[in-house]
Amino acid sequence: MNILVLNCGSSSIKFALFNEEHKIIKGLIERIGGNDAIVNYELPQKNVKYKNVVSIPTHEVGIKILIEELLPQSGIKNVNAVGHRVVHGGDKYSLPVIVNDDVKKDIEECIPMAPLHNPHHLAGINAIENFLPKIPNIAVFDTAFFQTIPIEAAIYPLPYKYYEKYKIKKYGFHGTSHYYLMLKTAEILRKKVEKIKIITCHLGNGSSISAIKYGKSVDTSMGFTPAAGVMMGTRTGDIDPEIVPYIQILEGITPKEASIILNKQSGLFGISGISNDMRKIIDEMKKNFRAELAFKIFCYTVKKYICAYLGILNGVDAIIFSAGIGENSYLVRKEVLKDMDKLGIILDNKSNESCVGKDGIISSRKSKIKVLSIRTDEEVMIAMFTKKLVQKEN
Ligand code: ADP
Repeated sequence: MNILVLNCGSSSIKFALFNEEHKIIKGLIERIGGNDAIVNYELPQKNVKYKNVVSIPTHEVGIKILIEELLPQSGIKNVNAVGHRVVHGGDKYSLPVIVNDDVKKDIEECIPMAPLHNPHHLAGINAIENFLPKIPNIAVFDTAFFQTIPIEAAIYPLPYKYYEKYKIKKYGFHGTSHYYLMLKTAEILRKKVEKIKIITCHLGNGSSISAIKYGKSVDTSMGFTPAAGVMMGTRTGDIDPEIVPYIQILEGITPKEASIILNKQSGLFGISGISNDMRKIIDEMKKNFRAELAFKIFCYTVKKYICAYLGILNGVDAIIFSAGIGENSYLVRKEVLKDMDKLGIILDNKSNESCVGKDGIISSRKSKIKVLSIRTDEEVMIAMFTKKLVQKEN
């Protein structure tokens, strides 16, 4: 079975095509909406890379180019199913589903909660229906993995009517990544997922931490929106909620402008004044107090969530670091886990420093809790879900 995985963002389309064994082609179409869209793809098995700048006014045109021009480069002639990343599935979906009109309506109803994502996922689904009409589309929701979070961890202590009226609760995001990390951890530790308790740290531009008990998510740091939890590239993470109206009044700004500050001008970027990129923050740290402060706040907020989840899970088997920062920055891992020997966490400095961009165990033998660095792969996970669902239906 050949499966195309699509992740349609606001101005981009990320794609990967899998056959039974491998990722045959993967790529990214960026800057959709104008004359200077960038088309990138690579054929990992053949060591081929391609980049071009073309005009792509809409997602629909992007998908047409993908199907007619890019996918044929892989040598694969037919696609059997398409798995779509969908950021928000609301309260309804705890598993991937085959897309039909009702599912599309549900994705549309979640647009107010994911205005930057869900409209583009729908555009991707519609375009595939148009260009590959006989092929099943599967929606894999970022929120699905977190449907098992108990109600006391999911409902905010606001007046209850807002939960009833507006469905304001914790949904969680990056679910597909946390799910993948759970499976990979079980594989590396040679244990069943039903037997392990773990804390997964997806630390990228957007970051989230999840507490997973015996194969089920019991809490996660992101909330009603992806702005909650730990500090991120440009997002605040958790802050005192009263700060927002306070700044709004003092600066005379609208809620929309406040939201831009919280989501786009804060985090590593807001504190350092330099960049949202952890590599730049680390480069500048020795000579720039604010870069050092950004690094320290980031690591502190991650540590705080890990410690909260250690308590909630009554100890864990493993802590996992993943995504751009988690997979690559041994300095972040070291800072986050320093002075935690009394909790049974001891890093092996050599393994930590050499485990960059690859999977491995980085804790010392003396550490009661294993620490792992794992490269996340949401595309593989979406392809697996898609294949399973299509096979079940046939
Ligand atoms: P997203 O998918 O959320 O956009 P990624 O998972 O690609 O983000 O992670 C991006 C982050 O990873 C950036 O902050 C980048 O600086 C950081 N990163 C990548 N490589 C390294 C590295 N070697 N050291 C530290 N940070 C890194």
